[in-house]
Amino acid sequence: MAELGCPVCDSPLDEAGSTFRCVLCEGAWVREEVLVAILEQRASTLVALPWVARQDKPRPCAECTADMQTVNLGSVALDRCAQHGVWFDANEMTELLKQVKLFKANTDPVSEHEAHRTGLLTRLAKLFGG
Ligand SMILES: [Zn+2]
Ligand SMILES: [Zn+2]
Repeated sequence: MAELGCPVCDSPLDEAGSTFRCVLCEGAWVREEVLVAILEQRASTLVALPWVARQDKPRPCAECTADMQTVNLGSVALDRCAQHGVWFDANEMTELLKQVKLFKANTDPVSEHEAHRTGLLTRLAKLFGG
């Protein structure tokens, strides 16, 4: 694999477990599936990431150097290449982990209830509708 470059200061990134770190600016490059795994472990449940677009100066992807999308996740401002991963400035991962409860996937007891109710109504309709 080609060496990854820091989107901020352009120095080479060091592999650190499942993420890649910049020793100069302390940012981190995290593949999206790795990010989801980290957050799911922290939340002890499935998470869904509600990316919200933000207008900002784009930074280059650490892998393909294309302009990344500037996005928010919770109140944390991140940079994201949909194909490759997400860039965290120093401390942004810590901030994000504090907000992990916001990202719990909707396991949706309401719609289960709805489905049950709809099933019941259908059965009733059959009973009375002939
Ligand atoms: Zn850097
Ligand atoms: Zn990319």
